[in-house]
Amino acid sequence: MTLPIVRLGKYEWRRIRSGHPWIYPKSIQSVPDRLETGDLVQVLGPREESVGVAVYHPGSKIRLRVLTTEVEVIDQSFFEKRLRAALFYRKKVLPGSNSFRLINSESDGLSGLIIDVYERAVLFQITSAGLEKLKTSMIAAIDNVLDPEILIERNDVANRKFEGLPEHKEVHKTPPNVSLNAYPVTIDGVSYELDLWEGNKTGLYLDQIQNHSKFSKLLEQFPSKRVLDCFSYVGGFSIRAAMNDQVEEVVGLDQSAECVAKAELHAKLNNVDPKCEFIKTNVFDWLREKASGIEPENQFDVIILDPPSFTKNRHAVEGAIRGYRELHVRALKLLKSGGLLFTYSCSHHISDDLLRSIAFESACDTQTHVYEIESHRQSLDHPINPSIPESYYLKGFVYFKKEG
Ligand code: SAH
Repeated sequence: MTLPIVRLGKYEWRRIRSGHPWIYPKSIQSVPDRLETGDLVQVLGPREESVGVAVYHPGSKIRLRVLTTEVEVIDQSFFEKRLRAALFYRKKVLPGSNSFRLINSESDGLSGLIIDVYERAVLFQITSAGLEKLKTSMIAAIDNVLDPEILIERNDVANRKFEGLPEHKEVHKTPPNVSLNAYPVTIDGVSYELDLWEGNKTGLYLDQIQNHSKFSKLLEQFPSKRVLDCFSYVGGFSIRAAMNDQVEEVVGLDQSAECVAKAELHAKLNNVDPKCEFIKTNVFDWLREKASGIEPENQFDVIILDPPSFTKNRHAVEGAIRGYRELHVRALKLLKSGGLLFTYSCSHHISDDLLRSIAFESACDTQTHVYEIESHRQSLDHPINPSIPESYYLKGFVYFKKEG
């Protein structure tokens, strides 16, 4: 099949060859007439050299998304090849794990596609008009490579509108007697019950799973009694804390009633509910109230700050910094000397150095001394592609609050 040809005036070959698939309008020299949204095109460089096969979107800032730098047909076997490569890598970096992000968009060579696997359930989300058109081959490939018992399309995300796509949810495959709202999975020895159909994201923040494990390990080294989990979501850090024998009390804070209910359920499922209290509240308000005039006996041994990104673009960074600063100042006041602060940012626009400087300036403000003892990042099933700076977004540091 011959594809329409799009010519580039400028070919950033190094970037594209190394896996960065976005081509902006300024690089494009000519586009054939009658090209439609989501059409596959053959991309040629200024010297007529082949750049690859891409999908075209006339209304998007990302005018072309390159699917392959080879000359190949984009069909079911193309998707199977991508899925197999992604699976091979996950099996290496997360041996024994049955729940992971299998396709993380650009990082896995499929810009605009997310596929999450939770044991025998597979959920996918498409945010590219081009991939939307190729959905049938993609679904067939998922079926062939993974043979899931449940296959759900979770295209209920607002950012589909940037490519002119409506929100849509569909169950493509499910056994008759399985509840999609209460699907049990076990990850790293922790039981969860996921709402595959309604749940926020596809159920869990899979990018934090390896950090939950690192957190558990550090708690063994730093025996702790009282743990405060700010932005607790469905209890990822809280449950891990409560599973530690030394820990006597865990307080989890989240503004969403559904998340609080799920966290309570997860505490029960893991038999740690007597140690856990989940509170529906705004973390900023709660910290403000508790941090003023805190008595040492009410301080926490461990505090986790894992807020939402606060900033989706670089223009909102100033406001985000103020928010992070406030969180750190109050958390450091609430933290016992000798305790640990785990702090994360999932915004690409907050760099390691920026997060670190927020933590250290907050330490100055509160006249505390801290050591940075570990640095964390997104789990390895959310690969970082060095040619795509945006693919590195989740970072975190662990601070030890010095005594005296
Ligand atoms: N720590 C979790 C993920 C946190 S996601 C994990 O490891 O799985 C961020 C959470 O913050 C979401 O559950 C969201 O509901 C909550 N949230 C956002 N803003 C908030 C606020 N101001 N106060 C309390 N919770 C908030």
